[in-house]
Amino acid sequence: MITVHDTAALREVIAASKNQHLRIGFVPTMGNLHAGHLSLVETAKQAADLVVCSIFVNPMQFGQGEDYNSYPRTLDADKLRLEAAGTDFLFAPSVEEIYPKPQSHQTQVIVPFVSDILCGASRPGHYTGVATIVTKLFNMVRPGLAVFGQKDYQQLHIIRQMVEDLAMPIEVIACPTVREADGLAMSSRNGYLTAAERKVAPRLYQSLLTAADSIRKGVALKTVKQVACAQLAAAGFQCDYFEIRDAFTLLEPDASARELVLLVAAYLGKPRLIDNLRVSL
Ligand code: AMP
Repeated sequence: MITVHDTAALREVIAASKNQHLRIGFVPTMGNLHAGHLSLVETAKQAADLVVCSIFVNPMQFGQGEDYNSYPRTLDADKLRLEAAGTDFLFAPSVEEIYPKPQSHQTQVIVPFVSDILCGASRPGHYTGVATIVTKLFNMVRPGLAVFGQKDYQQLHIIRQMVEDLAMPIEVIACPTVREADGLAMSSRNGYLTAAERKVAPRLYQSLLTAADSIRKGVALKTVKQVACAQLAAAGFQCDYFEIRDAFTLLEPDASARELVLLVAAYLGKPRLIDNLRVSL
């Protein structure tokens, strides 16, 4: 695996690959890699001729008071894992490399409406930060395909919409959420949990499974949401939202909706954990 830190070096390796007509598969990450990230690399390897991965903790997508400074940075360990997974190129730029100008003078990519609901309501500007960095990385890497995790369901939705709206010539591939043996969705932020919180954390996924069961039994969606939030609170979570949406639009489902997605965000001690589950009716 070749690691490059600056844009000029990246452009060189990308140009060489393009000259050979190789299809580039791209996996953007913020590092502190786990098996969920590596499943994206595996998918990219199968679908593309070569795999480019990026590691960049993007300040633009963190709000004030969020964990930008404390976000785990584990580049050496990440490199070993990416190399073992068969990554061809790693792009690991500095903040100055990506944002030479102050953020107030930086062009932004705004995907309206869907960026302001659910997690976007609690984290203003987050998805504009995501859409902007993904656009910039797409322009640098020029991939034929890019792989994202369903773990971040709303993010995936926003990127798909951005790619469609802006006619970006990129195939977006989604990968299922990789979970720990007890059901907890793998996340870099799980490392913030204390041992006691870690034992409780799988209840988040259990709340989704229970809610899905209730929906299939015909329980009213409003009741399902209320019960789920109450159960999470009783387990020690501080529920940010528990929502049931149309899986394709992220809007409140109407009576004809057949594909739903259950989305939850809840604090457990320090970290804010998110998870989701698709339900077909
Ligand atoms: P992050 O490093 O958290 O920005 O995530 C980078 C990519 O990995 C995103 O596309 C995430 O959706 C994906 N990802 C994170 N956690 C998981 C997981 N547990 N299973 C599958 N994909 C994941």
